[in-house]
Amino acid sequence: MDKLLKDGEVSALGKMLDDAEKVVLTCHVRPDGDAIGSTLGLALLLRKLGKEANVVTPDRPPRSLSFLPGFNEIAVFTQHDAYCRRLVEEADLIVCCDFNTPSRQDALAPLIQEAHCRKVLIDHHEKPDKCADLMISYPDMSSTCELVFRLIAALGLYGDLDIDAATCLLTGMVTDTRNFSVNCKNPDIYEVLGRLLDKGCDKNKIVRHSLNTRSFWSLKLEAYALMEKLEIFHDSRAAIITLSADDLRQFHYERGDTEGVVNRPLEIEGVISSFFLREDSDCIKISARSVDNFPVSEVCERFGGGGHRMAAGAEFHGSLEECREQVIKAVADFKKELPRPLPRLVTE
Ligand code: MN
Repeated sequence: MDKLLKDGEVSALGKMLDDAEKVVLTCHVRPDGDAIGSTLGLALLLRKLGKEANVVTPDRPPRSLSFLPGFNEIAVFTQHDAYCRRLVEEADLIVCCDFNTPSRQDALAPLIQEAHCRKVLIDHHEKPDKCADLMISYPDMSSTCELVFRLIAALGLYGDLDIDAATCLLTGMVTDTRNFSVNCKNPDIYEVLGRLLDKGCDKNKIVRHSLNTRSFWSLKLEAYALMEKLEIFHDSRAAIITLSADDLRQFHYERGDTEGVVNRPLEIEGVISSFFLREDSDCIKISARSVDNFPVSEVCERFGGGGHRMAAGAEFHGSLEECREQVIKAVADFKKELPRPLPRLVTE
């Protein structure tokens, strides 16, 4: 395994953990497998080392992660405000996982930022804000969970990692890499995978629960979106899916139900970019994905949004139809970015 971690950081983290008795671990709003996996995995390890460790999340983690050991003890700020405040006030160390700026914690941000104890950030997003005493940031890492594993190994604590903590860490790696299909160029991550499997983790179960399980209505909504609301624009090799508030109501929409819809049109041979427009209560949410290095981030910037070159988003204020028309126009302006020769695209 490549030695990527800086010795100074590892020893500083080791010292902070040694000095701490009560640790709070926290993550971003709408936590995903990596956010929950990294905080819970590290919390379980710290408990094994005799510390009091608690995970505090800004809002509710998804049900799909309820199979994780320790999930039921997570303190959710939107549900147990006073309890979360007490945990943070009593903590002598706060570990911030899987986010790069306090605003990613929504209403929990002030409580964490104003806490008097020391803080460490462990994250893999680009350009983190200096918001902790110790900043451990590796944007090249597949997931925060991979980074946490490497830190645990570098601290000589691999032997203390049990199957429960390992299951949490593997879950974050599985979800952030979509079961090792993206962000997994570095061969090291397979070595990390092997060392987690050595602990007895059930990877099939992790994949099934964290990636391949959804609600009845979520599946129906995606099927409806693809069947009825998908449009393909040949000249720009773009796909657009629009879902109105009425559509969402009809399918008993709950937050997270349209996760992944935007990726589906990219499965069509010859489609280069995909835009998913969803009518929320206060705006139209645009999510965009692409292949072949097509810059959907630049398309989204036109709407005041942004993101990664091939995974971006924006918010539009206006009607769904206006948004649709403007996205169609905007993406057409980027034709010069399409691969040449243009790929074959057959839709009839
Ligand atoms: Mn992550």
